Amino acid sequence: MTRRNVLDFVQPHWRNLDPYEAAEPPESLAERGGITEDEVVKLNANENPYGPSPKALEALNHSARAHIYPDPAQVAMRRALSRYTDARPEQIVVGNGSDEIIDLVFRATLEPGDVVVNAPPTFGMYDVTANICGGAIVEVERDENFDIDVDGMLAAAEGAKLIVLASPNNPSGNSTPIEDVERLLGADCLVVVDEAYAEFAGRSVLPLVDKHPNLVVLRTMSKWAGLAGLRAGYGVMNEEMAEVLMRGKPPYNVSQVAEAALLASLEDAEILDERARLIVREREQMGGLLAEMQGVEPLSSDANFILCRLPEGRGRAIYDALADRGVSVRYYSRGKLADYLRVSVGTPEQTGRFIEALRAALQQTA
Ligand code: PMP
Repeated sequence: MTRRNVLDFVQPHWRNLDPYEAAEPPESLAERGGITEDEVVKLNANENPYGPSPKALEALNHSARAHIYPDPAQVAMRRALSRYTDARPEQIVVGNGSDEIIDLVFRATLEPGDVVVNAPPTFGMYDVTANICGGAIVEVERDENFDIDVDGMLAAAEGAKLIVLASPNNPSGNSTPIEDVERLLGADCLVVVDEAYAEFAGRSVLPLVDKHPNLVVLRTMSKWAGLAGLRAGYGVMNEEMAEVLMRGKPPYNVSQVAEAALLASLEDAEILDERARLIVREREQMGGLLAEMQGVEPLSSDANFILCRLPEGRGRAIYDALADRGVSVRYYSRGKLADYLRVSVGTPEQTGRFIEALRAALQQTA
C-alpha cells in the first residue's frame, strides 16, 4: 500500500503559510546584547511600560480559582466591558487577545476565495489570518502620509466580504478620520476597525456600532491595561454577529486568570487612563528629541509608539547597532518601510537609553 505524504492531508492554502513575524523576545535580546533580561530596553512590541494596574496585580496574586473553568458566557466580563464601552453586554465578545477576535471574525465570515480588503502597511495579523482562511487579499496601499485611500478601498470592496482597518494604524500611528470610516461603512461588506491603541488616541468609532450592523470594533487589554502577556481583547459589534461568534468560539477561550485581571483593570480605569496620559506626554517628548536628530524623521502618532524614518539604506544597520546596545525596536525589511524603525513609548528612563543608543548607532553607521 502506498501511503500519502502527511502534507497531503493539509489544505492547499495551509501548506505555505507565512507566519506572523513577531517581535524578538527578551531572552534572545539579552543574549545578543550580552546583558540580563532586566537590562534590555524592550521597545519593540508596543507593550505598556507600567505593567498591570495595582488591582490587576492584586487579582493575579490572589488568583485562587485556577482549578475552575472560566465562564464560557463571559457574563461578568461582558457586563464590566459594557460599562467601560457604553455598548450592551450582548454586543461584546471577549477573546484570547484581540488576535483571537480577528481569527473568529475571519473564520466566521470567509470562505476560500472571499476577498479581504487591506490597507498596508499595517498590522500583519490581517494577512496571516486571511491566508489561514483561504481569503483573497486585495491590498489598497496607504499614501505617502500613511492615510488610507478611501475611494480605492471602496472600489476594491465591490463583491468583497471584509474590509479591515487599524486606527490608529500600526506601524504608522495615524488615525483614520471618522468620516472616512463612515464612508467605508457604506460598502456592502463587514468593516473591521481595529482600535487596539484607542486609549492613547482619545477617539473611537464605538458610537457607530449601533447605527451600522456591518461594523466590528476591536479593542484590547494588552496596551492600555498592560496585560499583553495574559491575552485579553474584545470585539464590539452587532448583537447577532456577537451571538454567532459566541457560539463558534472555544468555550474557555479566556483564562480564569486573564478574566480576573481584566475585571480588576476596569476597576482601575482611572489609574490606567492617567498612565495613558503619561505615555502620551512621553510620546511627544520622544518625538521632539527624534525630530532634532539629523536625518531622522518621526511621524506624528496617536498611539503608544512612533514610526521613524532613518537615513536612506541604513534601517537594518541602525536596528542592529541598537540591538547590540540592548535596545530593541521594531524593524521592517519590506518595501517602503525598510528605512523606518518603530519604537514603543516607554518610561522616561527608557527613552533616555533609546535616544542615547540611537545617537551612537547613527554615528557608527554613518
Ligand atoms: N491590533 C493591532 C493594530 C495591534 O498592533 C496588535 C498588537 N500588536 C493587536 C491587534 C493584537 O493585540 P492583542 O494583544 O490583543 O492580541
